[in-house]
Amino acid sequence: MDSEQLREYGHRMVDFIADYYKTIESFPVLSQVQPGYLHNLLPDTAPDHPETVEQVLDDVKTKILPGVTHWQSPNFFAYYPSNSSVAGFLGEMLSAGLGIVGFSWVTSPAATELEMIVLDWLAKLLNLPEQFLSKGNGGGVIQGSASEAVLVVMIAARDKVLRSIGKNALGKLVVYSSDQTHSALQKACQIAGIHQENCRVLEADSSTNYALRPELLQEAVSRDLEAGLIPFFLCGNVGTTSSTAVDPLAALGKIAKRNEMWFHVDAAYAGSACICPEYRQYIDGVETADSFNMNAHKWFLTNFDCSLLWVKDQYALTEALSANPEFLKNKASQANLVFDYKDWQIPLGRRFRSLKIWMVLRLYGAETLKNYIRNHIKLAKVFEQLVSQDPDFEVITPRIFALVCFRMVPVDNDEKKCNGRNLELLEAVNSSGKLFISHTALSGRIVLRCAIGAPLTEEKHVKETWKVIQEKASYLLRK
Ligand code: PLP
Repeated sequence: MDSEQLREYGHRMVDFIADYYKTIESFPVLSQVQPGYLHNLLPDTAPDHPETVEQVLDDVKTKILPGVTHWQSPNFFAYYPSNSSVAGFLGEMLSAGLGIVGFSWVTSPAATELEMIVLDWLAKLLNLPEQFLSKGNGGGVIQGSASEAVLVVMIAARDKVLRSIGKNALGKLVVYSSDQTHSALQKACQIAGIHQENCRVLEADSSTNYALRPELLQEAVSRDLEAGLIPFFLCGNVGTTSSTAVDPLAALGKIAKRNEMWFHVDAAYAGSACICPEYRQYIDGVETADSFNMNAHKWFLTNFDCSLLWVKDQYALTEALSANPEFLKNKASQANLVFDYKDWQIPLGRRFRSLKIWMVLRLYGAETLKNYIRNHIKLAKVFEQLVSQDPDFEVITPRIFALVCFRMVPVDNDEKKCNGRNLELLEAVNSSGKLFISHTALSGRIVLRCAIGAPLTEEKHVKETWKVIQEKASYLLRK
């Protein structure tokens, strides 16, 4: 690393990125390129000789940016947000600059210790039970994604059960969740070797916000016990992907405890909102959980990737995931004076990701972060109101956080045609380049999702977005 070159190129790159943010609204939010577009623009082989940073940045402008979907645009409302911020960016930069790989405490003590401290800070902000703090048997760890989080706790839970009843019982282990749970759970089951026929996907309650009904869970567990199976893992949701459904954690947790199941709570999106006292109620019951996960990279101003996982029993994780070859042995680990995050995750190597969330917490402070969340929820209420005032539209599920689920209403009760029309509307608004929303299906109905949470979004963007949707809808209706 040549310091002077870094200084020069680094300044130029920061200028480039700052200009990008200044002009971000001039790009079509959803990239409009066709598959394979880049093959026609770039050479078939890598260059033999160095090129200049200007040449590369020129190519970024003319060849890469057209193929970028602008997640940081204030008009990005698809999926869930993926926040970036100055603080998050600085943390990423510092992490790249230090270039450490902190798999064991000894490989960079600050990396392990800062992660532990920052996750304790966050646990306190969320008012998580003490057992999730690092001072006892619990603690937090940064994973790359909610998918990795659910996988590692499932493996921990699986091995804990199998250690007591024998490895041959793998085929009897049963996993429970609602049909609104993210497909990350299904993937975790596949990887953890849970038999597909032992994955109970229970129908969520469409009369509420698509939450899991405890009675249904109890019935399924009882049936499985009678059949000689072993219930071992339950995934509850706080803020599902389709409709932000919130499962009744306390009631589900009771059933899990009674049946000695591991209870994991996926709050990947909505967890961030629970730092606000008025939204903390949505994780009431988390004291019954064994693990809790929230993606700071979604709605917490922390650049991707930064998925926060807390467990009550760190030893369940380490017993399932630790490996200690000679080449990693060191005094601190062997004397049990420290813990090594390599044993809390799948890969060995890990980045210094706690820097960025530390930066976010320090440069913004908890009060700013709470108001940041509140502002998005306020904007979602504005959008929800606009939808409900238009007789051609309806809000489909009660809005809880900053996601509004809506659709064009059916004409003559024709649901099939209505689904088709909503998909047409989706295509029309997204291909305009002015905004990007996504869709889902709830009880067979195609539903449009407007997820407000990009850091640059203001009320004018929400109102303009609604105008574009209305214009496209009235065109479709006239057609
Ligand atoms: N859980 C929920 C509720 C989500 O919304 C998502 C993604 O949007 C996930 C899990 C998966 O997240 P990740 O990409 O971090 O694996």
